[in-house]
Amino acid sequence: MADRFNAVLITRDEEKKQSVSFVEIGEDALMEGDVTVAVEATTVNYKDGLAITGKAPVVRRFPMIPGIDFAGTVIRSSHPEWKEGDKVILNGWGVGETHYGAYAGRARVSGDWLVPLPEGLSVHQAMAVGTAGYTAMLCVMALERHGIAPDRGPLVVTGAAGGVGSIAVALLSARGYEVIAATGRTAEESYLKSLGASEIIPREVLSGPAKPLGKERWAGGVDAVGSHTLANVLSMTSYGGAVAACGLAQGLDLPASVAPFILRGISLLGIDSVMAPKALRLEAWRRIAAELDHDKLATITGTIPFGKVIEAAEDIVAGRVRGRLVVEM
Ligand code: NDP
Repeated sequence: MADRFNAVLITRDEEKKQSVSFVEIGEDALMEGDVTVAVEATTVNYKDGLAITGKAPVVRRFPMIPGIDFAGTVIRSSHPEWKEGDKVILNGWGVGETHYGAYAGRARVSGDWLVPLPEGLSVHQAMAVGTAGYTAMLCVMALERHGIAPDRGPLVVTGAAGGVGSIAVALLSARGYEVIAATGRTAEESYLKSLGASEIIPREVLSGPAKPLGKERWAGGVDAVGSHTLANVLSMTSYGGAVAACGLAQGLDLPASVAPFILRGISLLGIDSVMAPKALRLEAWRRIAAELDHDKLATITGTIPFGKVIEAAEDIVAGRVRGRLVVEM
């Protein structure tokens, strides 16, 4: 039948063992919502990898169609803001966690969760940015709101060869910041320099236990890694600086001391993309369309067909994905 489409479905058995497979479903199987979207592109974020591999409890309702973000065209709407033919983006709001997500030919969601595809970006480019890139922009905006301007000194980006990291490097360098990229993949030095990093430091410099205060090396940074790495980034931030923390690739813990906060007045800025208010999302996407260099975005991005999405989810958790992956439907 014409309205049937492929989807990835995560199920769980009585022993709570998770399985993932491709299934064919119809729109009648989708969850409630006032807008139905033809998903034209999606992506593989670290969180999608955690959901599909079951390595962290991202999925909170079974069965679940995973996929935390998509771009596509509205095919039906009873929401006042959207009509058939509108190009839209969705990031977060529990999609792929508690509400059926992006890894399906169609998605039915609340119109309140959608933002318009910004002028100048294709659906493919929007998913090359994806939740990782939109989160990188939320980090940049938070640092700016905190007064961290380029003349304050360099900024460090951790997990730099990953999705959030690659886009953060490109965005910060375009804004005139000097960027220090911390990576476990030092072979990616020329890639990171092509995105605008001026210096590369090996991940190991930051991944062990942190001193309460280290040598002041940067005015702040974007941290996608958490754990000891974030503790070291904080301890090496210069007086009055700020660090935007958005990730947990090394760990969910934060084995740090209060010394950077109480002796150097450093601020830790928490970044959440999932429930971020709409005004912030619109501003982030507007700025991405205006500021992210399209050639750099193309360098950051690989493309895979929908049939490879489960494999790619395993790869991203194993740290084998450089930059961003667009999934074409
Ligand atoms: P990626 O896998 O693309 O990037 C993560 C990067 O972290 C890797 O590429 C690697 O960078 C580095 N890394 C991986 N494992 C380790 C480790 N054990 N120790 C130190 N560094 C490590 O993921 P994304 O960019 O999609 O996401 C990055 C993080 O941000 C994730 O934790 C994700 O959950 C989080 N996130 C949070 C959001 C929010 O709303 N707060 C939204 C989006 C993402 P390299 O190879 O350069 O060392």
